[in-house]
Amino acid sequence: MDTLDLVAEEVRKCQKCRLWKYRKNAVPGEGNNKAEIMFVGEAPGENEDIEGKPFVGAAGKLLTRLINEVLGLSREDVFITNLVKCRPPNNRDPEEDEIIACSPYLHRQIELIRPRIIITLGRHSTSYLFQIMNIKMESIGKVRGKFYTWNGHEYRILVFPTYHPAAALYNPPIRKILEEDFRKVKEALSSKPISLDNFLYGSGNKGEKGNSDSSK
Ligand code: SF4
Repeated sequence: MDTLDLVAEEVRKCQKCRLWKYRKNAVPGEGNNKAEIMFVGEAPGENEDIEGKPFVGAAGKLLTRLINEVLGLSREDVFITNLVKCRPPNNRDPEEDEIIACSPYLHRQIELIRPRIIITLGRHSTSYLFQIMNIKMESIGKVRGKFYTWNGHEYRILVFPTYHPAAALYNPPIRKILEEDFRKVKEALSSKPISLDNFLYGSGNKGEKGNSDSSK
């Protein structure tokens, strides 16, 4: 039977793409195995590579603050991971073959956790999920802050793209938008399941329904 521990164990030993050669530690992800919210960033950075944990540097501190203060949750309530589990050298963008090699780990984590909402942090994880959801990815600035329905894992998951916290560190306007986006998620979480569709697609039209058929 597959488990999150098994996924983590395989990630730590993985050599499926070139990134294993550069890592100090692989970073499988951590958090609640029954989390309602799953965060998916791009790839580990320097601090994450040293500690083997996701989002522990300056961007991670901002993410933790938003989880605590805006969502009213702790890191232990959510699950935090990345699209690519090993640090690309000099923090370069992950390459397509690296994403293809690594993404099955993310899908196994999603299958095991079955989150209600996946918050994609930044353009890489958003672009990856949009591709399999068959949604046209414009810039992260255009698609962020809305909920998109994904039935790719045989049950409904809401995908909510926003900026990567690293982009907000020295950019107060982006930081403000990031906080606003987290408030939207908080509002959605507070709504009763029966009224969630109304919240997302109802008269207020605060969200946008994406193409949920990943088979197309
Ligand atoms: S990035 Fe992913 S696929 Fe590549 S070596 Fe690390 S765990 Fe394996």
